[in-house]
Amino acid sequence: MTVQTEFITLEDLVRGEVFDPGDPGYAAEAAAFNAAVAHRPDVVVAARDAADVVATVRWASLNSVPLHVQATGHGAERAMTGGVLLSTKRLRSVAIDPHARTATVGAGTRWREVIDAAAQHGLAPLNGSSSDVGVVGYTLGGGMPVLGRTFGFAADSVVSFEIVTMDGDARTVSRTREPELFDLVAGGGHGLVVVTAVTFRLYRVAQVYGGALVFDGAHSASVLRAFAAWSRTLKDASNTAIRFLRAPDAPDVPRELAGKLTVHVSFAHVGPGGEKALAPMRAAAPVLLDAVGVLPYAEIDRVYSDPETPMPFLSGGTGIVDLTEEAIEAVIAAVGPDAATVLPLVEFRLLGGAMASDAGRTVSAHGLAYAVHAVGVLAPPIADLVPAALEGLLATLRPFGNGRGPRNFLGGEDPSAGYSEKVNAVLAVAREELDPQGLLRP
Ligand SMILES: Cc1cc2nc3c(=O)[nH]c(=O)nc-3n(C[C@H](O)[C@H](O)[C@H](O)COP(=O)(O)OP(=O)(O)OC[C@H]3O[C@@H](n4cnc5c(N)ncnc54)[C@H](O)[C@@H]3O)c2cc1C
Repeated sequence: MTVQTEFITLEDLVRGEVFDPGDPGYAAEAAAFNAAVAHRPDVVVAARDAADVVATVRWASLNSVPLHVQATGHGAERAMTGGVLLSTKRLRSVAIDPHARTATVGAGTRWREVIDAAAQHGLAPLNGSSSDVGVVGYTLGGGMPVLGRTFGFAADSVVSFEIVTMDGDARTVSRTREPELFDLVAGGGHGLVVVTAVTFRLYRVAQVYGGALVFDGAHSASVLRAFAAWSRTLKDASNTAIRFLRAPDAPDVPRELAGKLTVHVSFAHVGPGGEKALAPMRAAAPVLLDAVGVLPYAEIDRVYSDPETPMPFLSGGTGIVDLTEEAIEAVIAAVGPDAATVLPLVEFRLLGGAMASDAGRTVSAHGLAYAVHAVGVLAPPIADLVPAALEGLLATLRPFGNGRGPRNFLGGEDPSAGYSEKVNAVLAVAREELDPQGLLRP
C-alpha cells in the first residue's frame, strides 16, 4: 500500500479491498464499460458499504487527493490518472416499497436489478435505453428514460438521496431537507457530491406496446421525413427515437442488419392505443423488420437493443429544436445512404411531453425537441477517424439546436451544455462551497 499519510492508510479506514497499481484485481476494479478508457488512479477503493464511502471521501479531502467515483463505467469518457478511484459496484441493493411505489437502491445498483424487482409488483422505474447502466450515474445526469415523455426525467422522480459531501458529512437530501442542494444533485450531481443511495418513484406499468421498426437505409430520407411529421403529433403516452445504424458484418448480427445502413424507429407506448399511434410509421416505407408488440416491462431493453458487452467507444451529443426540411437534408447528407461516415450509431430521441416542463429544476429539455446521441467505435481500422467524424457530425447539427444538449448524451464534451446559464452559475457556487479544494471529479 503506497498511499499513506500520518501512518493512517486507506486500508486502516475501510472494510473493502484497496488496490494499488500492480495488485492483482487493480485493473478489473478500475475497468470501465467503455473499454477505450483505462483509469490509472494511484489507488482503488472497492467500497463495501456506505461507511467505506465516507471514510474514503474524508481521507481524500484530508490529504487533498483527487477523487473519482465509478459504478459501471458506462459514463467513462476520459481516463483518470492519479488520485483515488472509489468503486461503488459492490453497493448493490434494491428495496421496493409497493405501497409507497418507491425503490431505494445502493450506489452500485444497475437498472436491470430494479426493473426485475419492481416488475414483481407490476411497477416500473424510469430506466434508460440499456438496463446495464448504473442507476446513480444516470440519475445524477438527469436520466432520460425510455418512458421520459410519459413520466419525465428520472431525476424528477427522485424522492431523496443519501449523500456524502467532500467534508465527509453524510446526510439525506430531499424536497424538504436541503431542497436547493437536492434539486442540484437531481440532474446536476456529477462532481458535486458522492451518493451512497437513492430513493425514487416507480410507476404502474407492467407492459408497453413497444420495440423497433427497421427500414432499409435506402429509405432513410422518406422514413426521416415521415418520422419528423409523425413525432410532432404524438401524445405523451408515446415515446420514440429514430436511429441510423451501421452494424458490422459479424456472425452475431442479424442478417437483415449486418454490414449495411438500417434505420430503426424505437417505440414504447404506455396504455391503450399504441398500435394506432405507430400506424403512420408502419406505412412510411417497406418495413424490413417489425419487432413492435406488447412487451412486458422487464423486456424494455428490446426497444433500443443497446450493446451489452463492454466496448471501446467515443460518444457525443447535442439537441435539435425542430426537424425542419433543412435539418432533415443535413441529417441525410451526414448519415444517410450516401454518407461516408464511420459512426455506427446516430440517434434522434424525441423529447417533450413530461420532459418539457422545467419549472426551474436543474434538468430540463431547454426548448429542445430531439436529443441527439452519436457513438463511434474506437477499434481498428477506423479508430483514428472517429473523433473527427463525431465532431464533424455535431458541428453539422448544432445550427439546428440552441447550444444545449442532454447532459447524459454529451460524452466527453463540456457538461455545461446540459444546463441553463442560471443552473450552471448555481452549480459553480455549490461546487465551490461543497468542494473548495476541487477534488471530486465529474
Ligand atoms: C449503452 C448506453 C446507453 C445509455 N442510455 C441512456 C439513456 O437512455 N438515457 C440517459 O439519460 N443516459 C443514457 N446513457 C448515459 C448514462 O446515463 C451515463 O453515461 C451515466 O453517467 C452512466 O452512469 P453509470 O453509473 O452507469 O456510469 P459510471 O461511469 O460508473 O458513472 C458515471 C459518472 O457518474 C458519477 N457517479 C457515478 N456514481 C456516483 C456516485 N455514487 N456518487 C457520485 N457520482 C457518481 C461520476 O461522475 C461518474 O463519472 C447511456 C449510456 C450507455 C453507455
